[in-house]
Amino acid sequence: MQSSNALYIVATPIGNLEDITFRAVKVLQKADIIAAEDTRHSAKLLQHFGIETRLMAYHDHSNEQQTQQLLQRLGKGENIALISDAGTPLISDPGYRLVKAAREQGYSVVPIPGCSALVAALSAAGLPSDRFSFEGFLPAKSVARMNRLEALQKDPRTLIFYESPHRIRESVEAMTQVFGEARNVVLAREITKTYETFITTSFANLLEAFDSDQNQLRGEMVILVQGFDEPKGNDESLDCDTEKMMKLLMEELPLKKAAAIAAKMSGVAKNRLYQWGLEAK
Ligand code: SAM
Repeated sequence: MQSSNALYIVATPIGNLEDITFRAVKVLQKADIIAAEDTRHSAKLLQHFGIETRLMAYHDHSNEQQTQQLLQRLGKGENIALISDAGTPLISDPGYRLVKAAREQGYSVVPIPGCSALVAALSAAGLPSDRFSFEGFLPAKSVARMNRLEALQKDPRTLIFYESPHRIRESVEAMTQVFGEARNVVLAREITKTYETFITTSFANLLEAFDSDQNQLRGEMVILVQGFDEPKGNDESLDCDTEKMMKLLMEELPLKKAAAIAAKMSGVAKNRLYQWGLEAK
């Protein structure tokens, strides 16, 4: 089942240990070595599943030598499993440099899929999930953070952020400033753990919830922000030419088709034209 000479990227649980997969346990058991972000932390996971494979530390941001060591091991025909403290390696976790280098050198890189906090949060948040953007952690410095948020202000996709308890309030305050008090937000905390909580509310209410219950600032958390909703309808009226074009097209074609053609010619969003057409009918 396990081919030799491969780098396995193994997802581990984000809280509840039962969320590991059978395949992940098997791969970890059979690997020649497990590269882990924090060997002490991962030792507990291995102990729980009776896995005796040796652990070595791996942080690709700081140490090129560790990447080279692992590539040499692959070169000798060893199987390596990469894990992080929780969830899927490389997702706001180490591993990118190693995977890139292993692929460049022609080694097999095999994903062993499983948990990731962003997917777990999105799957249960109740926000649109057809298109989303994972933004990871915001920059720690306030100017850089505001710049990043401003670039996302009109993004129509659901936005997903990771955050830590000591920055959550500052980040939510900055988001409120940029996205507005009324925008919908979901705070997904402690997913798969005892105090798992999903709060679905507006930014204004989320800040109030923080003031009235300090527990909402604790634990591990994902923030999901509803995408920007293009102003719809005639209150945001169309320019004269686009309006004329829409009227002409609507005389000849079904509204959907008319909006699609007018969108191509005018550059105005198709949904907005469609909405305008509905109200103009
Ligand atoms: N690699 C991980 C993954 O696949 O989700 C993410 C690692 S990143 C260093 C840690 C961040 O993930 C936390 O600060 C938090 O934002 C999020 N996170 C991890 N576990 C979580 C959980 N059980 N509930 C909510 N958020 C979680």
